[in-house]
Amino acid sequence: MNGGHLPPGFVAEGGELVIAGRRASDWAAHAGDTPLFVYDGARVAARIAAVRAALPDVSLHYAVKANPHRDLLAAVAALVDGLDVASEGELQMALAAGADPRHVSFAGPGKRDRELAAAIRAGITLNIESEGEFDRLARIGAELGVRPRAAIRVNPPFELKGAGMKMAGGARPFGVDAARVQSLLARFPQAGVAFEGFQIFAGSQNLSADAIVAAQSETLALAARLAEHAPGPVRSINIGGGFGLPYFGNDVPLDLAAVGAGLSALMSRCPPSIAGAEIIVELGRYLVGEAGVYLTRVVDVKSSAGQTFVVVDGGLHHQLAASGNFGTVIRRNYPIANASRFEAARTETVHVVGCLCTPLDRLGDGVDLPPTQPGDLIALFLAGAYGRTASPERFLGHPPPLELFAPARD
Ligand SMILES: *Cc1c(COP(=O)(O)O)cnc(C)c1O
Repeated sequence: MNGGHLPPGFVAEGGELVIAGRRASDWAAHAGDTPLFVYDGARVAARIAAVRAALPDVSLHYAVKANPHRDLLAAVAALVDGLDVASEGELQMALAAGADPRHVSFAGPGKRDRELAAAIRAGITLNIESEGEFDRLARIGAELGVRPRAAIRVNPPFELKGAGMKMAGGARPFGVDAARVQSLLARFPQAGVAFEGFQIFAGSQNLSADAIVAAQSETLALAARLAEHAPGPVRSINIGGGFGLPYFGNDVPLDLAAVGAGLSALMSRCPPSIAGAEIIVELGRYLVGEAGVYLTRVVDVKSSAGQTFVVVDGGLHHQLAASGNFGTVIRRNYPIANASRFEAARTETVHVVGCLCTPLDRLGDGVDLPPTQPGDLIALFLAGAYGRTASPERFLGHPPPLELFAPARD
């Protein structure tokens, strides 16, 4: 079965796939080697503009962990209202990308003391994941003589229905259970911690506008109830994101306009306890995923027991998610094409496998491609998020992939 939707707008020139205005072979020559990721800044900018148009009343943050590539991050930072980081390393990347520390927040269940200290010194918002973390934050702030700014990350008693990755509802390592938030709020003034607001993240990779709006509705209602016990005004509420991408064959792309309409309606009747708060939507994959293409060269084409294997120089060490080994239960194919013969009829059914010695290393399982030769370039689409950054790069000792960012041409 073939993968999901090729993002719209990919065309051929001289029979070859064109990415960000250049042929695939040009990019490979420019990089000097394969495999490589190409990130199209124009696609990123267009997606951010579309989200802003559909969700005009909220602030837009980018979750750095989706793709922290330096040039991409700098381009994104200039177009969104803030960045969300998950480690001190990402914090440094966010600051280097030019983000305003007042609009950077840091979530993650295992923040070390030195990470808390770095965040306090930088003046960013800490999203508190537990009472113990709150105590450490207060102590380190006192030691540094700097008042920390903190929001409470709430583990809500509901989940984003149908999310590809469940991160809320029931027992979770993320956030403070909603039932425990009131007593934690009461401790802010004495602890010398400035109260910023709430972060409530109900799930990820969702393609249903109805489910997303339903979770947003519950999120705002929960925030409004908790806000009644807040030690001061609620400055911001990060309501998460969860906007998914159509990676697989039967996926239907998210109806962004429907999400926008639903959220606008919710915002227009925001309860008074949170009426003054900045509402933040935090997105990772939705902003950058479709802007990336992974290009890998065919090394060998072989046959075994009547099946054809197209062996490439890349693999799951760069694209774990496309191999089906990153948070998916059933292995399904990402959209894939022969970039060197982009317009040729897909007359053969083959397995595209990576160069690692493990049966897990499959980039395309029974996919239709044109007759393919060693030397051809294979393109894996939707490679802009959780690609290199979420893959076991050291596994088997191959070199890292190359990465190229094509700035938006205006
Ligand atoms: C990972 C993460 C995100 C981004 O998820 P995407 O599916 O890439 O949009 C947003 N918020 C939090 C808290 C996260 O951990």
